Amino acid sequence: MKILVINCGSSSLKYQLINMENEEAIAQGLVERIGIEGSILTQKVPGRDKYIVQQPMATHKEAIQHVIESLTDKEHGVITSMDEINAVGHRVVHGGEKYAASVVINDEVMAQLEECTKLAPLHNPANIIGINSCKELMPKTPMVGVFDTAFHQTMDKQAYIYPLPYELYEKHGIRKYGFHGTSHKFVSAQVAEMMGKNIEDVNIITCHLGNGASLAAVKGGKVVDTSMGFTPLEGIAMGTRCGNIDPAIAMFLMREENMTADDVDNLFNKKSGVLGISGVSSDFRDIENAAKEGNARAELSLDVYNFRVREMIGAYAAAMGGVDAVVFTAGLGENSPTTREAICEGLQFMGIKIDSEKNNVRGKAVEVSATDATVKVFVVPTNEELMIARDTKTLTTK
Ligand code: ADP
Repeated sequence: MKILVINCGSSSLKYQLINMENEEAIAQGLVERIGIEGSILTQKVPGRDKYIVQQPMATHKEAIQHVIESLTDKEHGVITSMDEINAVGHRVVHGGEKYAASVVINDEVMAQLEECTKLAPLHNPANIIGINSCKELMPKTPMVGVFDTAFHQTMDKQAYIYPLPYELYEKHGIRKYGFHGTSHKFVSAQVAEMMGKNIEDVNIITCHLGNGASLAAVKGGKVVDTSMGFTPLEGIAMGTRCGNIDPAIAMFLMREENMTADDVDNLFNKKSGVLGISGVSSDFRDIENAAKEGNARAELSLDVYNFRVREMIGAYAAAMGGVDAVVFTAGLGENSPTTREAICEGLQFMGIKIDSEKNNVRGKAVEVSATDATVKVFVVPTNEELMIARDTKTLTTK
């Protein structure tokens, strides 16, 4: 069985064709600059040179047409015809309260997704366009929607209700939703497996540290709390997002700096986080280099970042009444030994202790805790595409 996984952004599209017999990617690619001059598709197939298509792609439908052509290309493709694609799995950012699990896409689901657009105006429209384009090009192929928010729907009301007038929750759905759910679910399941335990029997703190970053407290396979909220702006500091700050800062800036709501939105989402503090970059590699060269603000931004993740780990241990394992994933979590070590420094009191030698690892699934640690620490590369493909397989072969 072969499953195509599509992750559609506003001007880009990532895809993977996965062979479900061995769960390996047969091909993966990225289309950039959709609807802008200079559209480009880059496809990678293990053991071959990159295949690049540079042609105008004015719409997502045209981009997906090129994806299918690249996958079936006589010379550079990996399948002979589109019919070899048994199902398509779509990443969808927001499933609202309606979707606590992945779902086979039909007209009713499409209508619900339109409803959820209000909650994710920047992301859901692109996801919907991607689904509609695929439906037009592959009308007979079953499609599944996999939601970033779904895993977090297991949260209790005490965790997701904000201390605001309750009517705002009823009227607008203002509550904590959480994001990166597919990743938190994937790595928590993998950690339970690495521990040789049932997921029902372990308390895990998952740290997804990429450009966007979030933590989740996963108790017995269910989310007790997660750090992103109504939007991906809440939580720990990120590359360019501020995370938790005093909400009064928004009103202060509007009054004192004459900023509009959009200005504040842009400042908090695009100009804050470690970029805002360091003034150097949102990329941790640049910041780590600047800090090594003695840039004090770069160093401060890393200290703030690590301190906030450390605090959140403490909070989540309390939220679950104890923790058995902490896992680091995504760009920074998988690839930065110094970040993992700095975050865990000072958590020895609760049994978290990293072995520096074991921790000197990048992009591999390994345990990195010291032998005398009572809480195990893991690094697990996330694989959201595989998780989407697994759900797609389950739902389309029932
Ligand atoms: P997203 O999918 O949210 O765009 P990723 O999970 O790919 O992000 O993470 C990207 C971030 O990971 C980069 O901004 C960079 O800061 C960090 N990163 C990647 N590789 C390394 C590395 N070797 N050392 C430190 N940070 C890294």
